[in-house]
Amino acid sequence: MCGIFGIFNHSEASNHTYLGLYALQHRGQESAGIASSDGKRLHHYRQMGLVSEVFTRETLKRLSGESAIGHVRYSTSGSSELKNAQPFVVDYAKGSIAIAHNGNLTNASLIRAELESNGSIFQSNMDTEVIAHLIARSKAKTFVERTIQALGQVEGAYSLLILTEREMVAARDPFGFRPLVLGQLREAPVIGSETCAFDLIGAKFVREIQPGEVLLINEDGIRSFNPFSPKPRHQCIFEFIYFARPDSFIFNRNVYQVRKSLGTQLARESPADVEMVIPIPDSGIPATLGYAQESKIPFEMGMIRNHYVGRTFIEPEQSIRHFGVKIKLNPVKGLMKGRRIVAVDDSIVRATTSRKINRMFRHAGAKEVHVRISSPPITHPCFFGIDTPKRSELIASSHTVKEIQKFINANSLSYLSLEGLKKCVQGEAENFCYACFTGDYPISFPIERLNE
Ligand code: 5GP
Ligand code: MG
Repeated sequence: MCGIFGIFNHSEASNHTYLGLYALQHRGQESAGIASSDGKRLHHYRQMGLVSEVFTRETLKRLSGESAIGHVRYSTSGSSELKNAQPFVVDYAKGSIAIAHNGNLTNASLIRAELESNGSIFQSNMDTEVIAHLIARSKAKTFVERTIQALGQVEGAYSLLILTEREMVAARDPFGFRPLVLGQLREAPVIGSETCAFDLIGAKFVREIQPGEVLLINEDGIRSFNPFSPKPRHQCIFEFIYFARPDSFIFNRNVYQVRKSLGTQLARESPADVEMVIPIPDSGIPATLGYAQESKIPFEMGMIRNHYVGRTFIEPEQSIRHFGVKIKLNPVKGLMKGRRIVAVDDSIVRATTSRKINRMFRHAGAKEVHVRISSPPITHPCFFGIDTPKRSELIASSHTVKEIQKFINANSLSYLSLEGLKKCVQGEAENFCYACFTGDYPISFPIERLNE
């Protein structure tokens, strides 16, 4: 997963991009980067680490110019190392381009193999680099035409920002897997993964970039192209369940309200005879509020999070993950002693977190620990930009709910139903991708990948 941000024609372009990335940090903590243009050439800086660690006043100063794009990364394609950090910057016959990409292309390795057999040399192992090569090879006259030609050849998920010396292009794939929003800071157009980035810099939200839309931003203003044939939308439902920030407005809705309604619906479907409702922070909090209000059971912050630790999931190695849960969460002892509790979380992926959390609740004296999950069981990996592990590591791909209940040592376990989930995006339910819960992938891809 990744977060992207861009601003055009503003005297403090890279400073604002830095702030935009700061607000999007939840979308990726592995590396951060900014590319700017001073009208003549591009400047860029990328490093492994958090936005606050990567940039200093001095590095930002060197990123001069009135337009900039930035990226925060959590690798879903390509390994975690500096050469895979973004924006990806290349020079080609007609100038320089910087690309910031959120999503995953499903046919990148095919295209790459073809390009390599024709002599192309790749610098990274990111799928994003394929787009740069396709743009460079295009014979079309204008930059936006070259981009459209390139995008016509890739499949999968992309929300993209591309910067050249004088122009910026924003594009969202025809299915609209990942969010991308347009805003305005005084005269300057701004673009970001989520609206929370606009709030921080005082920009106003204008609209979503539409699936399949390509926006060209240059000194003449903004021009919208719709070069691809319309497709059914497949917006990522997991953005609402877990990924996006609750204060953001994406896919036509406020994330917090959707997330809370997931909890309300969960309480209706799977009540629990308990004395308190406890969220697994932070991602489980909005759904837990919905659950508590609907069931009229007191909400208690029975599990406290250390906010100075990154999301445990971000550590790619299993060994660190296990440790990460304890470093991050600690129960409030005494509160749940001898009590029956329900713990609400947004999702179970491998179930290692839930197992450890329940153990902590029992050590803290809870008499019964019931678990409620505000999404359906994740049975299939995502190929469109969410870093779900391979299928064999998804516990629900090989275990029944009863077996998972046993594994996590819960007195009861219920997930939100798929129908219940769809109710929470009523009116637009058919516009979302539910493949991680159903295996019903909207794009076909080499089947071996499913069992990797
Ligand atoms: P697991 O079941 O793998 O032990 O972990 C479940 C926890 O991971 C839940 O609390 C959920 O909020 C969190 N989670 C689910 N998906 C993601 C993700 O894509 N990234 C991160 N960092 N955490 C996730
Ligand atoms: Mg969580």
